[in-house]
Amino acid sequence: MIHFVGAGPGAEDLITLRGAEYLKKCDCVIYAGSLVNPGLLKMTKEGCDIYNSAEMTLEEVIAVMKEKESEGKDTVRLHTGDASLYGAIREQMDILDAEGIAYDDTPGVSSFSGAAAALMAEYTLPGVSQSVVITRMAGRTPVPEKENLASFAAHGSTMVIFLSTGLLEDVSRELISGGRDPEDPAAIVYKATWPDEKVVRCTVGTLAEAARENNITKTALILVGGFLGSSYDRSKLYDPEFTTEFREATR
Ligand code: SAH
Repeated sequence: MIHFVGAGPGAEDLITLRGAEYLKKCDCVIYAGSLVNPGLLKMTKEGCDIYNSAEMTLEEVIAVMKEKESEGKDTVRLHTGDASLYGAIREQMDILDAEGIAYDDTPGVSSFSGAAAALMAEYTLPGVSQSVVITRMAGRTPVPEKENLASFAAHGSTMVIFLSTGLLEDVSRELISGGRDPEDPAAIVYKATWPDEKVVRCTVGTLAEAARENNITKTALILVGGFLGSSYDRSKLYDPEFTTEFREATR
């Protein structure tokens, strides 16, 4: 059987208990070596075969899975963060379906959660934004035209921009053309939850400069929105005047 497992954003203790259990028991691990913390591989048992998918094609990954399956062995396919975001898991699952190989999927802590924790921030502040747009700039992987960054920027929602650290001049331009002010708050979180994590607060207009000054060229998230500012409304949930299913209003 194949277990797709989200490795978490970096820190070794941010994998789930279930994911760790699969890692400890499996006979083979195929891990996304470009971003998964190799320290997680220490959990594997003696004799576990380890492959780095950063150096492999989809066909090679599937060939390893098929070989292990034919030997009755369990394989963990270890993806960074949560595999549902930019994880390229669907194409693997579709081939496994066609081959009649069983698999399951264990979620992980995505780097967008790791970045919020690094900033000690809440993405969904009442009175500021109740939505989070997770997106990226088009790079070598295209983004559908209707999802261009400027159109999302126009909503004023919290934005988490993946895979775009090399394109920050373009990110700023698109955000501003979508209506964000160059002075609006922004942040760059590099290697969230890793020991060498960096948190850089800047503005929409200074993203590229801030990255340059801090030598950040990859493995970073760009965060944009009023949630990085200082004003917001109190929550209704914990408001004494608000009755919920679990609590009567006290005044
Ligand atoms: N599935 C992953 C994302 C994979 S795409 C997840 O859920 O996090 C790879 C991109 O994710 C990187 O280019 C970077 O933008 C972001 N990323 C991954 N790990 C990160 C981390 N620890 N800190 C900041 N950004 C990270």
